[in-house]
Amino acid sequence: MIELSDLPLRADLVGQEPYGAPQLDVPVVLNVNENPYPPSPALRHEMAAAIVAAAGGFNRYPDREALGLRSDLAAYLGHGLTADNVWAANGSNEIMSHLLTAFGGPGRSVLTFTPTYSMYPEYARNTCTTYVTARRRDDYTLDAGLILDAIALHRPTVVLITTPNNPTGTAVSLDVIDEVCAGTDAIVVADEAYQEFSARPSAVELLDRHDRLVVSRTMSKAFALAGGRVGYLAAAPAIVDACRIVRLPYHLSAQTQAIARVALAHSDELLAQVRSLAAEARAFEAWARSRGYAVVDSEANFTLFGRFADRHRVWQDLLDRGILIRETGPAGFLRASAGTPEEMALLSAALDEIAPTIEGDVK
Ligand code: PMP
Repeated sequence: MIELSDLPLRADLVGQEPYGAPQLDVPVVLNVNENPYPPSPALRHEMAAAIVAAAGGFNRYPDREALGLRSDLAAYLGHGLTADNVWAANGSNEIMSHLLTAFGGPGRSVLTFTPTYSMYPEYARNTCTTYVTARRRDDYTLDAGLILDAIALHRPTVVLITTPNNPTGTAVSLDVIDEVCAGTDAIVVADEAYQEFSARPSAVELLDRHDRLVVSRTMSKAFALAGGRVGYLAAAPAIVDACRIVRLPYHLSAQTQAIARVALAHSDELLAQVRSLAAEARAFEAWARSRGYAVVDSEANFTLFGRFADRHRVWQDLLDRGILIRETGPAGFLRASAGTPEEMALLSAALDEIAPTIEGDVK
């Protein structure tokens, strides 16, 4: 049988592994910052009915402009935005890939601030865009000076500012984004995948002042629709037009558009758990601090904590107890997503159980 190494794979892809956190069937899954609450039975039925209705047209291609969905997303974001300001795709992963296909590419670079989301280097690699980084401050925050200095050094065409950041949870204030946008001609993308969990205003507020600002969002987290695969951006119509050039034709299926519109029509119900999930994460942080762990100040639905001499062992010990968290971020840290109160109680009880065997700076 033919092996991968026999194929004319692109030289820069040779030796690369497919990305992905482990997908394991265990009782407590807290590793990919999902929302632990499934849609209610009533909402499931409404989604099913919307798919049945869409199926009546499955012999035809879907609306390749996804105009109904884009206007619903614009209405959800408010601030006078219309469908022309919004683009939608299969998760914000695909949004980012459209942006880098349009504004990155050979000879260009994308700048991010580490530690940050582990998919960014892959978006860059896939679009043949050079990936350049600058380190965050010691507390993982960012200021405009640090960002603008890095822009002056690297001259990227795209700058990704993740707020709240994954995996640290640290957020960036609008003043900083405002100052950065005023100081560069680069496309500045505020990745607000976790925005709804934070008490801060969205960078959407800055869109009418900066026409190269892009706000990227997702329905995977707060909307509890990770399986639906819907991400979107808000920006000037010209930026949407750039994405329309590079998207595959009919990229967003009729069923995806249908269920996303049902979800948006029920945003109150779907977003109802956002406050309680943020509260679960903050309560876990307080508990972890009380046990002597180092905890990063987070404004998202997850917590980065440590510092373990052997984080893999702690991760494995938790997995042996049916709890899956994430081995990611700076050396010695682990990340746990906010789950239900029961799941969080199991996590803290398991950590207490293994604590006597944990080695690290604080334990
Ligand atoms: N941006 C950040 C910062 C993320 O953490 C994630 C998901 N882990 C995404 C984007 C992508 O999410 P999705 O493709 O599900 O919209």
